Amino acid sequence: MNKAYIHLGSNKGDRMKHLLSAKMYIDQYVGQTLMSSKTYNTSAWGKADQPDFLNSVILVDTILSPFNLLKRLQKIESIIGKEKESFWGPRKIDIDILLYNDEVLSSQRLIIPHKYLHERNFVLIPLAEIAGHLVHPVMKKTILELKVLCLDTNTVEILD
Ligand code: AMP
Repeated sequence: MNKAYIHLGSNKGDRMKHLLSAKMYIDQYVGQTLMSSKTYNTSAWGKADQPDFLNSVILVDTILSPFNLLKRLQKIESIIGKEKESFWGPRKIDIDILLYNDEVLSSQRLIIPHKYLHERNFVLIPLAEIAGHLVHPVMKKTILELKVLCLDTNTVEILD
């Protein structure tokens, strides 16, 4: 079995419903969820003039290879509705692979660890909640250390 950390985000429509649907499909089609962070409300990154996101990170036990995992997650995105108005614009659901075991992989379709993992509070804060002491296999620092070093100033708040 493989351990994959997966990031979920939604900033369009019923955000909580989309996150819960994604988690349900992941349990069904990807593997068992071993851990889940709280849900966070975060201001949009990259393209700020859009609604806040709800974000969460989960740890999943899966038999799928990285590429099959990506395919399965993209299928789930398309079932929920991936369409977005523009690059980095609002979307019902966005699902990214953050880490897969301690593998390092870089291809046109898939980069693991996720390229922006260490630059984004909305990823680092929920990830640190469930895997603070995990070592980033490229940066060779723990998630908590990366969180301290991260220069992102966007707000990330636990949803009540
Ligand atoms: P986005 O719509 O911004 O989430 O970008 C999705 C694209 O990023 C897809 O075409 C994927 O092939 C690519 N991608 C590269 N690395 C990853 C990753 N670690 N997790 C998810 N998608 C990835």
